[in-house]
Amino acid sequence: MTGQNPVFIPGPTNIPDRLRRAMNVQTIDHRSPDFAGLLVPLLGDLKKVFKTASGQIVTFPASGTGGWEAAVANTLSPGDRVLAARHGMFSHRWIELCRRHGLEVEAIECDWGDGAPADRFGARLRADRSHEIKAVLVTHNETATGVRSDVGAVRRAMDACDHPAMLFADCVSSLASMDFRMDEWGVDVAVAGSQKGFMLATGMAIVGVSPKAIEAAGTAACPRAFFDFGEMIAANAAGGFPYTPPLQLLYGLRASLDMLFEEGLDNVFARHRRIAEGVRRAVRGWGLELCARSPELYSDTVSAIRVPEGFDSEALTAHLLDTYAVSFGVGLGPLAGKVFRIGHLGAMTDVMALSGIATVEMAMADLGYPVESGSGTRAAQEFYRRTARPALRTAA
Ligand SMILES: *Cc1c(COP(=O)(O)O)cnc(C)c1O
Repeated sequence: MTGQNPVFIPGPTNIPDRLRRAMNVQTIDHRSPDFAGLLVPLLGDLKKVFKTASGQIVTFPASGTGGWEAAVANTLSPGDRVLAARHGMFSHRWIELCRRHGLEVEAIECDWGDGAPADRFGARLRADRSHEIKAVLVTHNETATGVRSDVGAVRRAMDACDHPAMLFADCVSSLASMDFRMDEWGVDVAVAGSQKGFMLATGMAIVGVSPKAIEAAGTAACPRAFFDFGEMIAANAAGGFPYTPPLQLLYGLRASLDMLFEEGLDNVFARHRRIAEGVRRAVRGWGLELCARSPELYSDTVSAIRVPEGFDSEALTAHLLDTYAVSFGVGLGPLAGKVFRIGHLGAMTDVMALSGIATVEMAMADLGYPVESGSGTRAAQEFYRRTARPALRTAA
């Protein structure tokens, strides 16, 4: 086999050649001026992606889960009460992580396919007159269900009752692919990672931190060492790192930001939206349903698709890999066997998406799905043809 198919898992994502080359660098001394010259502008440019002017960016050698842990450990104390919605595997895992840190989590249970309910958050916060709740957790893009939640609406619900809790957002599978506005939405800690919208190898948690969260770190009593915001911010300000940085990833991130800014963030978001819409047309063409309940919840980075009654989505994804050497996302937790997911984020084009859609059709035909072969591909083709724009050819 001479080529490799793209992956359609919603992270880690396909790594453009340009970024693979950028990560292929020899060691430099991380206590040298060259390192400071790489790091300092990088942190400044990351702020543009988070859309924060007042916040700071900290990074840790970790996956996104490390970013969750950093958010919690730096700003809260054991016994603190936090409010979260559980509507998919990722929001579920963040809740569990909070519990292991000794926090009291009030979980608002939602259907897996719904978004984080700003109205229910608002009602609970309004009732919390003594301000026991210290933080509100929102998963901006629930990767398990392909649901985008309205973080701004949660902020408005908090402000409507003047609740002083911090707002944390998981934007691991949305940042740099869908619009995220840390300052406008009043997000105090925003958690992302290197391996999704940034199109890089896994290994960096990238976290936006507001002045309020930094202030909270002054009194927060959860134990932390590796993930300490204060030590990281102090070291970064001097152009350094408190321990050995993931140098190759930082070079990759420099190149990733260059790519994103060359395309333009708004164009990046529009590309994701257009590709996602083509995938959604394909799903409709197949006569299948998305896990996301309504259009305003549709994610532009991942689509979770319900398989027909009597079919096992695990068998479908296994067949896709075994027979056609293409990876798609499986159903997670209670959705195992019921949904499969098409990740369409990062280094993705309409042409790549069409190859994924067409391959799903082959596998569904092989497995006897009641789906007309070509129906999804045709619907996506029609949409992509109608909305085609002069191709942007950035160096890959
Ligand atoms: C990928 C992802 C994470 C982090 O997972 P890691 O495997 O630790 O990088 C967290 N939240 C969401 C919504 C994700 O998609």
